[in-house]
Amino acid sequence: MVVLAAGIAVVWERSGDDTAAPVATTSSTTTTTVLPTTTTAPPTTTTAPLLAWPALPGDGVARAVTTPTGVVLAVVRANADGTFLTQAPCGGEVTVTGLALTGANVVLDPGHGGDEPGAVGPAGITEKAVNLAIALETERQLEALGATVVLTRTADYRITLASRAAIATNLQPQLFVSIHHNAAPDGPRDGPGAETYFQIASAESKRASGLIYEELVRAFSAYDIAWVADSDAGAKYRPRDGGGDYYGILYRTAGVPAVLSEAAFISNPPEEALLADPGFQAVEAEALTKAIVRYVTTQDPGRGFVEPYPRTEPAGPGGGSDGCTNPPLT
Ligand SMILES: [Zn+2]
Repeated sequence: MVVLAAGIAVVWERSGDDTAAPVATTSSTTTTTVLPTTTTAPPTTTTAPLLAWPALPGDGVARAVTTPTGVVLAVVRANADGTFLTQAPCGGEVTVTGLALTGANVVLDPGHGGDEPGAVGPAGITEKAVNLAIALETERQLEALGATVVLTRTADYRITLASRAAIATNLQPQLFVSIHHNAAPDGPRDGPGAETYFQIASAESKRASGLIYEELVRAFSAYDIAWVADSDAGAKYRPRDGGGDYYGILYRTAGVPAVLSEAAFISNPPEEALLADPGFQAVEAEALTKAIVRYVTTQDPGRGFVEPYPRTEPAGPGGGSDGCTNPPLT
């Protein structure tokens, strides 16, 4: 937000010097319309050209739907009466009305939600709230560049890993990014301890994880704080016993290039303070946006790939349907 606002301010100054004064002197009747037009112009039309994102399916097939309450659901079947049979946030099927989505360029997945807060920092900042704030800001920045973006979770409610993944596999975006923040580091580190997990079987997922790692570390390195990390911080993978990916959000999205981003440690007080700051949230969102744009528009390989040490500690709890209550859908 800070960065884009600064960009707009620069453009306003330039257009004011170059064009506003002549317009005002040549026609007093247009002055009142010129000013509102200038101030309400979308930032993207002045700060950056729209990018040529891959076209979405033009077949009119409803693959996901946004309910009147703003909840996004994977469509199982479109009914003849205009309603949709969908996969409910807590699992199972539910019939809803709503706005059909045929596809997406990017699906963002804000981790946790509802009575699953994710990691909670020492000052009480919850991972679920930070994840959503950064996902919403990333969506805003990507849409300003012309992308079609869908969030798997749009407010503070429970949704299972399976229902999140169904949205992604239905919509078949160019990239799926699950936004999380970390806890339980190995110790201090002389710089950001970002971790980006890729799907072991997907070279494109690996490339995206390297780009996200590169942009996160580039952006976060401007902050001189007491960073913490695992000793194998970087772009990496976690295998499951018997093969494949350990993390459900990565194996359930197989077929869609997916990255699990653990950008910083919410358990570390100085990092928690940054993550609670809307200005820093915008910085992280901008790093994700840059990485996603590079993923789609270049063949850059990314960097920061590490060989992870073997892990036995389980992933955090949650993501299933036990005790799950659906949010209002009508
Ligand atoms: Zn998490």
